[in-house]
Amino acid sequence: MTERVLILGAGYAGSVVANILAREFRNKIAKDELEIVVFDKNKTSINQGGFTFLPFDLYTPEDIIRPRKKLISPRVKSIYGEGGEVSAVDLEKREVTVKDGKKYRYTYLVIAMGCRADMEAVAGLADDLNTFYTSIEDALKVRDLVKNMDGGKVAISVASMPIPCPGAPVKFTFMLDSYLRNVKKNRDDVQLTLVWPMEPIGPPEFNKMVSGQFEEKGVEVIRNFQLASVDATNKELTSKNGEKVNYDLLIAVPPHKAPQALIDSGLTDDKGWLPADKATLQYRGPAGNFDNVYVLGDLGPADILKTGIGAHYQAIAVSQNLINRIYGNGMEISYEGETGCPIITDTETPTTPGKGYIATWKYGVPPAAFKPTKLGWYLYRMYYHVHWDMSVKGLF
Ligand SMILES: Cc1cc2nc3c(=O)[nH]c(=O)nc-3n(C[C@H](O)[C@H](O)[C@H](O)COP(=O)(O)OP(=O)(O)OC[C@H]3O[C@@H](n4cnc5c(N)ncnc54)[C@H](O)[C@@H]3O)c2cc1C
Repeated sequence: MTERVLILGAGYAGSVVANILAREFRNKIAKDELEIVVFDKNKTSINQGGFTFLPFDLYTPEDIIRPRKKLISPRVKSIYGEGGEVSAVDLEKREVTVKDGKKYRYTYLVIAMGCRADMEAVAGLADDLNTFYTSIEDALKVRDLVKNMDGGKVAISVASMPIPCPGAPVKFTFMLDSYLRNVKKNRDDVQLTLVWPMEPIGPPEFNKMVSGQFEEKGVEVIRNFQLASVDATNKELTSKNGEKVNYDLLIAVPPHKAPQALIDSGLTDDKGWLPADKATLQYRGPAGNFDNVYVLGDLGPADILKTGIGAHYQAIAVSQNLINRIYGNGMEISYEGETGCPIITDTETPTTPGKGYIATWKYGVPPAAFKPTKLGWYLYRMYYHVHWDMSVKGLF
């Protein structure tokens, strides 16, 4: 009998699993003993990490987008577009339904459909929505706003947690500071305010480093400000505690949630995310406990950090466990919470050095004290090229 692995979502995590399994099981696939099927509603893959750089022309849209057929092994059966858009998942029946009504059954299921911004979750946010978090088009709109801004107060507001890559708004704020200081040369005319929904910004040493840098660069940080509403007419933010912040230009990161199809399928918990065992990443939620169902990446439990680095390590752990189970060797490995947050404090210009650092940590082991360096800047810049031919292909 042919075993079948269905992978829902061919973003970062889903692509890595598909490519690792295709490599490992080339003989089984050739003999029809195993089928690997990947579904995605889009034909192109976007490296969302690049959204943060587009407003400063540090990458172009072409740098951060690729056709999926160039990224996923031809040994994998790929279904993209409407036929690949998942509309329902029934874990009891082991059945996935797609938008055109077709149903697929599986032996193993990998759910890796990412998460999405939910503008409607904050009253008035959609009336003044400038964000680099959602699409290439939106990030380019932020680029135009920043380019044409002569002065005033810019509020960079993170509405609530969790969001994908909580470090990205921090990085964006530093890059905006650098851009105004070294490129546009009007930093003195702009007040920069980061409006943050929690007290710390990341783990203790991360918080210490970025807080010091914000102070040095004259960036105001307002903490514990969970966004309740936006008044676009009076250009005013109100928090859940009733505090107010005024702005001239708002750049916002909306609340995020799991894909609607998974919410409608009854797979999410009361926080709106897919619950899973934090070590094995097997589904443990309102639909039951399912050892043959793996939850990967941004849609996973609220207390697993949502980063591409994390999604990558999760994909490697789950791929290995699928390999173990398909061979029946009785072995199991754990995801140990490996994750990270690449930070940039200064962007490079012809006369000023770039500075960055790729801070990494895992469950119970927060990052040690660190300092952004010129090498860190180059490594992070390089990563965006390595992403397509090494990371997504599951080669490291
Ligand atoms: C602005 C920004 C900056 C970031 N910067 C960094 C960074 O510097 N470093 C870092 O490590 N991480 C960063 N991240 C986070 C990183 O991009 C995500 O953590 C990572 O992409 C998660 O991978 P994933 O596979 O879970 O989801 P995704 O890569 O989002 O893939 C999900 C896939 O599922 C598909 N899908 C969704 N719904 C359906 C459906 N109904 N049917 C079929 N397919 C569906 C989507 O089309 C998509 O291809 C950033 C994110 C953003 C938004």
